[in-house]
Amino acid sequence: MIVGVPKEIKPDEYRVAMLPVGVEELTRRGHRVVVEAGAGLGSGLADEDYAAAGADLLPSAESVFAEADMIVKVKEPQPAEWELIRDGQIVFTYFHFAADRALTEAVLASGATAVAYETLSDSEGRLPLLTPMSEVAGRMSVQEGAKFLERPQMGRGILLGGVPGVAPAHITILGGGIVGANAARIAAGFQASVAILDINLDRLRYLDDVMPANVTCLYSDRHTIRKQLERADLVVGAVLIPGAKAPMLVEEDDLKIMQQGSVIIDVAIDQGGCIATSKPTSHAEPTYIVHDVVHYCVTNMPGAVGRTSTFALCNATLRWVLEIADRGIEAAARDLKPVATAINMHGRKVTNKAVAETFDLEF
Ligand code: NAD
Repeated sequence: MIVGVPKEIKPDEYRVAMLPVGVEELTRRGHRVVVEAGAGLGSGLADEDYAAAGADLLPSAESVFAEADMIVKVKEPQPAEWELIRDGQIVFTYFHFAADRALTEAVLASGATAVAYETLSDSEGRLPLLTPMSEVAGRMSVQEGAKFLERPQMGRGILLGGVPGVAPAHITILGGGIVGANAARIAAGFQASVAILDINLDRLRYLDDVMPANVTCLYSDRHTIRKQLERADLVVGAVLIPGAKAPMLVEEDDLKIMQQGSVIIDVAIDQGGCIATSKPTSHAEPTYIVHDVVHYCVTNMPGAVGRTSTFALCNATLRWVLEIADRGIEAAARDLKPVATAINMHGRKVTNKAVAETFDLEF
């Protein structure tokens, strides 16, 4: 099979979908890999690294899409890429179709097989190609929070860990899943005082077992949330109800009980956010202020730490790239359930129920 890796063109996107080691694994198995020149630069990976691993470097996205049987990407195809996708081509990437009707219609019309990272499920129903990005966003949320708590960034002027004689910051984390647990671990490492809230009692028991002593695990209800908001310097929104919009946990009036200059990092913004006043922002302009509270609502947080994110993503995707390349998409889907769960479109038909229902398309 010929596997193609184009350069990502979405603004603020520095990831690339394959590492040189992936190229080496594929070529060793007899596949050919074509990589667009400069594709890895945002992640600090030079064309020479890909060439040394056995890739053919091509000058443009057009040439990569024209040659490849399977395109491996990071972000959903952008409008400029839609017309490059060929009938029968496999496209393996994050699609998030339900958020974008035009994208859905364009990929459907192309006749490509859309294999979506975000729906690939393992035998326990987990989403292993989403997990690494949640780990990155969770860890990054505290790093960003620390930065925006600084006074020149309009924050309260608080150091997360305090110093001897001065109390540390209090960090409230709404949702104790992958984002929340990773945020808590980093926040605890900074020696902040941390509270993590969830509605899943089993999850709270687990977190209580594994987290350090400066992390308190609390049941998430309206009273506890409001009490936390009164004292929080930093709030991290990390809730998820799979397949649905994020639940709204903080109303606009609740901001008025928060301290002036406190910071909200709403990681759940890609599912609509869990704070009433959240609206999507970008790395170029990540924050805005409502009722004296700094809001950070960047929808693609991992893009900013492209190198870490690229390695984390490729560690998780390579296995499936190899399976699809070795077996072909039909056999891979027949023999491997996770591959079947990832196929959202095939032969101009939607094969994912949720996507079909969202746009009232034939399933
Ligand atoms: P997850 O499923 O691992 O965890 C979500 C947690 O929220 C679960 O433990 C669940 O019990 C809890 N929850 C649900 N309702 C709650 C409530 N009312 N109160 C408290 N907790 C509640 O999900 P995750 O992987 O941690 O992802 C969290 C969010 O972060 C998702 O919306 C995801 O899309 C988003 N995300 C955003 C970015 C970004 O760049 N902005 C990157 C990665 C992930």
